[in-house]
Amino acid sequence: MIPFNVPIHVGEELKYIEQAINNRRISGDGEFTRKCSRWIEKRFGAQKVLLTTSGTSALDMAMMLCGLRAGDEVILPSFTFSSTATSIILGGGVPVFVDIRPDTMNIDEKKIEAAITDRTRAIMVVHYAGVSCAMDEIMSIAARHGLKVIEDAAQAFMSTYRGRACGTIGDFGCYSFHETKNYSMGEGGALLIRDREYNERAEVLREKGTNRSKFYRGEIDKYTWIDFGDSYLPSELNAAYLWAQLERADEVNDDRLRSWRRYHDGLKALTDRIEIPSVPEDCRHNAHMFWIKLRDLEERTAFIDHMRALGIGCVFHYVPLHSAPAGLKYGRFDGVDEYTTRDSDRLVRLPMWYGLSDDDVDRVVEAVKKFLGVTL
Ligand SMILES: *Cc1c(COP(=O)(O)O)cnc(C)c1O
Repeated sequence: MIPFNVPIHVGEELKYIEQAINNRRISGDGEFTRKCSRWIEKRFGAQKVLLTTSGTSALDMAMMLCGLRAGDEVILPSFTFSSTATSIILGGGVPVFVDIRPDTMNIDEKKIEAAITDRTRAIMVVHYAGVSCAMDEIMSIAARHGLKVIEDAAQAFMSTYRGRACGTIGDFGCYSFHETKNYSMGEGGALLIRDREYNERAEVLREKGTNRSKFYRGEIDKYTWIDFGDSYLPSELNAAYLWAQLERADEVNDDRLRSWRRYHDGLKALTDRIEIPSVPEDCRHNAHMFWIKLRDLEERTAFIDHMRALGIGCVFHYVPLHSAPAGLKYGRFDGVDEYTTRDSDRLVRLPMWYGLSDDDVDRVVEAVKKFLGVTL
């Protein structure tokens, strides 16, 4: 059996969790929370990193920091996870979906400007599969129209665009450390803040509306309730799990990239029958996923069944948000849906995880060839 995903475990996780227990500090903002956030700040050149309880809560915090007013609009792709859109609704806004580009499955930067109205306040981009959106174009549209940019970089930890880390380019960046992502803490995430002026408000949001973070740093001698907030600070136990992987971040990234390239080499001769990912020159990706696109929904269903029969787990996603029940209720699609629905029906993800062996990649490639009737 080759599972679709195996949650990452590099070896030292338990040791660090035990250390957190011995530190007598298992709630948040202790040694491991600090170590992880400082590591990310240094490595990616981020002004401020706050660990959160999930990628979703990082997105929620980012939208709250944008300070939307009821009816304000946020532009985003429809081909994404529900969290991207729910953060906008919780923040009081209206999601306005635009089409994606078929090569990367990222928001089509050329469709953004037409969707801007006098209610538009922000653009929420998603770096799908860890491949960056066209950030230079998107940042200049935002600058021209005075819009905030939020990067849903849930899948893009360790990815870069023109040498800059995904998540550090927009006003806010959001990572996920869910067990399906390249680096994990079980459930968790991180919020990246570009402009210093938001740091304090973000800490208050994360600490139930109090200035407890300042108190812990010894900057004030008692803490109090100063604004609305929520509980977004993860436990030290989760941060300790993540720390083991950050210590080996390059090894993990290289391992995934090796599998990705092996898939690419194995399948590139088949591009008259299937589509495979292409990575724009400006982007260094993190091998979050290897997808292929089949002819249509029917062929994809047959493909997943074929792979399952051979003991290989393959999955598809997403149901485009604009056609999902909540999307119909809360949002709208701007422009023509040329690729979102058509290509989401055709896309399937092959097994991809840290530690996936070359032999297993070869087995998957052979199974794809067998499905397509390619003689070996
Ligand atoms: C995984 C993911 C999220 C949500 O992250 P959680 O940590 O599971 O809350 C949001 N957006 C995208 C694009 C994701 O892939």
